[in-house]
Amino acid sequence: MKIVIVGGNHAGIAAARRIREDYPEDEVYIFEKSHEVGFVSQTIPLFLMGQQKLDTQGNYTNPDEIRKLGINLYIETEVTSVDVKEKLVKYKNEEKKEYGEIVYDKLIMASGSYPSLPPTGGKVGESLFLIKDKHDALVLDHFVQHAKHVAVIGAGLVGVEVSRILAKRGLQVTLIHARKRILNDYLDDVMSIETEKQLEKEGIRVLLNMRARNYETVEKKLIRRPRVKISLGIDDDITVDGVIVSTGFRPNSYLLAGQVETGDKGAILVDKYMHSSNPDILAVGDCATTYMDLIDRNVYNPHASDAFRQGAVAGINIHEKKQPIGLTTGTYRFNMEDFFIAKTGLTLFEAMEQGWDADFVNYRNEVINSDDFASGCLVYERKTHKVLGIQVLGTRDISYYVNTFSYAIQTDAVIEDLEFSDFYFEHGYKDPMSFASKVLHLIREKEKEALANQEEDNS
Ligand SMILES: Cc1cc2nc3c(=O)[nH]c(=O)nc-3n(C[C@H](O)[C@H](O)[C@H](O)COP(=O)(O)OP(=O)(O)OC[C@H]3O[C@@H](n4cnc5c(N)ncnc54)[C@H](O)[C@@H]3O)c2cc1C
Repeated sequence: MKIVIVGGNHAGIAAARRIREDYPEDEVYIFEKSHEVGFVSQTIPLFLMGQQKLDTQGNYTNPDEIRKLGINLYIETEVTSVDVKEKLVKYKNEEKKEYGEIVYDKLIMASGSYPSLPPTGGKVGESLFLIKDKHDALVLDHFVQHAKHVAVIGAGLVGVEVSRILAKRGLQVTLIHARKRILNDYLDDVMSIETEKQLEKEGIRVLLNMRARNYETVEKKLIRRPRVKISLGIDDDITVDGVIVSTGFRPNSYLLAGQVETGDKGAILVDKYMHSSNPDILAVGDCATTYMDLIDRNVYNPHASDAFRQGAVAGINIHEKKQPIGLTTGTYRFNMEDFFIAKTGLTLFEAMEQGWDADFVNYRNEVINSDDFASGCLVYERKTHKVLGIQVLGTRDISYYVNTFSYAIQTDAVIEDLEFSDFYFEHGYKDPMSFASKVLHLIREKEKEALANQEEDNS
C-alpha cells in the first residue's frame, strides 16, 4: 500500500513511525515544505529566555534518521494540491524547480496549523510578530533586542508565556486580552486571577476585556522601525515598538477544502480512529479536530501531546479501524519557569456549561517560612465525586498531578480512589497531606457546611 503523509512534524512523524512498526511492507512518503523535521515549538520560549539554542536543541529528529527507517522523505517540498477523486497529490520544490505528482492509496494530512492574524492590518515582521516556527522566533528575538515597549495581543498560553519572557528581558510589556480573565480556556477565574497577580508582580500591564481595534503605524527613528499606535476603543490608546500577536492557531486544512467534512474552526473532522469523512484520508494533529469525551464534542485542540497520540493512532488504523484513540482530557503544562501552571479536564465553567452538576475546591499550600506556594483546583461531580478536571499553579511545581488526574478521568475514578494512593511524600509544605487527601477533606467540609445550612433553612 502507498501512503502519502502531508507534513513532517510531530503528527506526521508519529504516523510514519507507527506505520513502519506495524506495517513494514507499506510504502510511506512524507512531504515537508520546510528543510527540517521534528521541530518542537516549546523550544521557542526557551530560546527567547536564552536557555536553549534553536539550531541544535529544537529538533528531536532529522531527515537522515527518518530516511533510515525506510521512509521516503521529501523536504523543502510543498504539497500544492490534493485531488481526492483521483487520489492524486501534486508537489513542488521551489528551490530546485522540481514538480511532481504521486497517487496514493491512503493519505494522512498532518499539515498542522498557522497563527491567526488580526483583522486590524499591520506588516508581519515589521510591526507585527508571530510565534510559530524557528523563523518567527529569530525575527522576534532580533526585534526585542532593540525594542523597549511591546504589546502582546491575546492572553492564551503563548501570549502569557511570551509576556513573562519579554518582561524578564527588561521590556515594558502590555498584555491585551479580549476576555474578562486571562487563560480563560484553561483556568477557572480563581486560578486566572492568581496568574494575573503574578504577571503584574513581574511588571506586566494586563488589560482585560479589551480588543485592539486598529493599528496605526507612526514613525520612530531610534530603532529604525515604525512604532504602532493601538486603538483600544477607550481613551487609553497605547503606542508601542511592536505588537506580538498570539490570538491562537487555525488549522491548515485548505488543501482538502470542500473535499472532506470539516468541523470546529475549519479543522478536518475525524472520528476516534483519525479517519476523515473520506475512507482513504486520515487527519492528525493541529489540522484535525479532537473528540473531547467529557463534553462529547469534536473541538479544535491544537496540542503537541495530541499530535503525537493522534499520529500513532492513525498509523495503527491506516488499513482498517482497529484502535480508537484514548480519552482526550486536554492536558497541558505551560512553559513558564519559576511559576508553573498545568491543567487537565474541564474547568468548573466548562463542566457546568456541559450540564454536569459540578463543583470545585481550591487548595493552596505554602512552603514553610517562604513565599513559595502551590495551589490546586479540583473540579468534580457533586453527587459521585467523579474527577472532572484539575488546574494547578504556583512557584512550586506540582504539574505532575495533572497526568495522574488525567488518568483518573480516563478510568472514571472518583476522588476517594486517590485519597490513600501511595504517592511519594512531598516535604517542605506547611500542610504535609497529599493533594488528593487535602482536596477530599475540603470537599467533606464543604458538604458538611451545605448540610448544616440546609438544616438551618429547614428549621
Ligand atoms: C510557542 C509555542 C509553544 C507551544 N507549547 C506547547 C506545549 O507546551 N504543549 C503542547 O501540547 N503544545 C504546545 N504547542 C502546540 C504544538 O506545537 C502543536 O500542537 C504541534 O506543533 C502540532 O504538531 P503538528 O505536527 O500537528 O503540526 P505542526 O507542528 O504545525 O507541523 C505541520 C507541518 O506540516 C508542514 N506543512 C504544512 N503544509 C504543508 C504542505 N502543503 N506541504 C508540505 N508540508 C506542509 C509544515 O511545514 C509543518 O512542518 C506550542 C506551540 C507554540 C507555537
